Amino acid sequence: MKITKENDRLAVPAKVTVPFIEGDGVGREITPICREIVDYAVAKAYSGRRAIEWKEVLAGEKAFNATGRWLPEETLETFREYLVGIKGPLTTPVGEGIRSLNVALRQTLDLYVCLRPVRWFRGVESPVKAPQKVNMVIFRENTEDIYTGIEWQQGTPEARKFLQFLTGEMGIKKIRFPETSSFGVKPVSVEGTERLVRAAIRYALKNQLDSVTLVHKGNIMKYTEGGFKNWGYALAEREFSEEIAAGKITIKDVIADAFLQNTLLTPEKYSVIATLNLNGDYISDQLAAMVGGIGIAPGANINYESGHAVFEATHGTAPDLAGKNTVNPSSLLLSSVMMLEYMGWNEAATLITKAMETSFVNREATSDLARFMPNGKPLGTVQFGEKIIQLMH
Ligand code: NAD
Repeated sequence: MKITKENDRLAVPAKVTVPFIEGDGVGREITPICREIVDYAVAKAYSGRRAIEWKEVLAGEKAFNATGRWLPEETLETFREYLVGIKGPLTTPVGEGIRSLNVALRQTLDLYVCLRPVRWFRGVESPVKAPQKVNMVIFRENTEDIYTGIEWQQGTPEARKFLQFLTGEMGIKKIRFPETSSFGVKPVSVEGTERLVRAAIRYALKNQLDSVTLVHKGNIMKYTEGGFKNWGYALAEREFSEEIAAGKITIKDVIADAFLQNTLLTPEKYSVIATLNLNGDYISDQLAAMVGGIGIAPGANINYESGHAVFEATHGTAPDLAGKNTVNPSSLLLSSVMMLEYMGWNEAATLITKAMETSFVNREATSDLARFMPNGKPLGTVQFGEKIIQLMH
């Protein structure tokens, strides 16, 4: 049975089909374990009344070996049809005319929000003194900014043509070394900003979070990043003035470099973050490092209008760990938790996060985390998965 979008709400059947991409490299290890844990949590939370029927679709190396294509059309179609899906990490093909499979998925389904919740779990060692103060949800714009990939390599006819346009038609005189410069274009639009900021504010209100901070570099890039700030505030005033007046939500902004500093000094001041694509990239990694690193950071790509959402491990295929039963499945597992929450299956989600926290407090984790815990007990990937199921029992 399919998830549908009805009257602005997701309708999730009790027996729901969820497409998944296993993923390359360590994807083959973490995906089966996460499915098993999710199945157990759902069965336990709803006494068998709800269940997920997993539907495998191909992408990456596995797809290439089976079909000769890195991202078969059928995979995109299935994600389009079933609305909500999940994916393991994918190898980025080199020289295949596709920049990245992840980017192709995001663009095809217009998944304009990259959602990254960052919270600390008791028991996990952190490089900062008070990681419990870090509790933020990042809304990173996913379709604009320099990620559109409009750039020209120095010395090419295209770069020369663009330079001629800049100097000849636009009267630009301040390029320091014009002949040896590469050029890039940074589009940031009103609509792109508004839908991202709207999604962030709605999320904050729904989850009773008290602020949304617009993070930008508008002091330097006045019309792109400054535009993001101004259009964000204008949208908030136009669409959420009642909630702001009632004190339910505060909208504020901070310049990106100051924000990175403040995340270390006063992280408790921030809750929901709305930011542009490149800032969001840096911010997600820094905050992830503050609460335990790459093996435990979940993420999702979402279009809140159509309902399409692809939940994913945020790390890559970790070829150095593949096949060694040491990789941490927590990133994909917490992404599965986000997926359950998105579907409204919060009870199952909570069972998993509680079990994970208990395991970390008991100092039982995969070696990437256990090695930093005092007397940490490193578990293999499979054994960590078994431990989580045991703790839910
Ligand atoms: P990576 O994330 O695979 O690995 C970076 C480092 O982090 C490695 O040392 C790895 O061992 C470690 N690491 C990653 N995930 C871990 C986990 N779950 N538990 C413990 N340690 C973990 O990045 P990379 O090496 O730059 O990229 C490898 C491949 O993955 C490339 O083909 C790249 O294009 C692809 N990639 C895919 C995605 C994605 O599908 N979302 C994201 C990033 C990179």
